[in-house]
Amino acid sequence: MSGTDRLSEAARTPSPAEQGAPALPPPPVGHPDPATIAVLLDVDGTLIELAATPQAVHVPPSLKHTLARLRDLLGGALALVSGRPLADLDNMFDPLRVALVGGHGAEMRLKPRGEVDRARVTPLHDGLRRRLIAIAAETEGVLAEDKGYSLALHYRLAPQAERFVRDEIMRARAAFPDVPVEVLPGKSLFEVKPPAFNKGMAVRELMRREPFAGRRPIFLGDDVTDESVFAVMPEFEGLGYSVGRRLPNTQGMFATPREVRHWLYGFIKPRAPDAARPSVVLKD
Ligand SMILES: [Mg+2]
Repeated sequence: MSGTDRLSEAARTPSPAEQGAPALPPPPVGHPDPATIAVLLDVDGTLIELAATPQAVHVPPSLKHTLARLRDLLGGALALVSGRPLADLDNMFDPLRVALVGGHGAEMRLKPRGEVDRARVTPLHDGLRRRLIAIAAETEGVLAEDKGYSLALHYRLAPQAERFVRDEIMRARAAFPDVPVEVLPGKSLFEVKPPAFNKGMAVRELMRREPFAGRRPIFLGDDVTDESVFAVMPEFEGLGYSVGRRLPNTQGMFATPREVRHWLYGFIKPRAPDAARPSVVLKD
């Protein structure tokens, strides 16, 4: 297998059938009142396709347009919920501004141009951070993404290095036994962060504040780090949908980010008089 083949193989998301999981039915169609729901969206692998490096992703202009319209339709109750830092999200989606949860919950912004809340940030231990960066420096094809409060090691360009990187992270952890951290496996990456926050904790806080409070959240996510959000959805009578694979505590599944974008467009596209708005039925 050539290097290019290996890369494209690694970048491709296996279908549910390939993973041995039955496909769930797609989200049902109904007519929710936009004033009663909030839409919360993971970004990488959910709204947009994964790329070889975090910087190489492409955000289609049509998606920015759809999200801007949806944000206004929902009275601002639209948020991106990502592992990326807030500044990274703003850059990717520029000039669009929406509410954001960044850094797996370390950063939060409730209004499109509001203040950033970093109350949950605990910086990653400096010695451990340097040790993790050294793993990337010494391993070809492994990239370190330093977010300050967490550090991700990406091995998408060197899939054969997965086990080596994981073992090295465990060795680095063992060298700092008094530093509490957790290691989150993602798609071709490991993320090391203090255990003080996660996406689910941040979403729980988000849903208690304006303009999200009192609405029913619909969360879409594709990865292990999204499971903490799916887990808190019942507290708000919310719904969770996974993308590309089945995840616990979800009500349905989208096959691809492209399908997600089409579904979102269904909220805002001009409707024929008798056409149903493709979105979700919310049970009382
Ligand atoms: Mg994702």
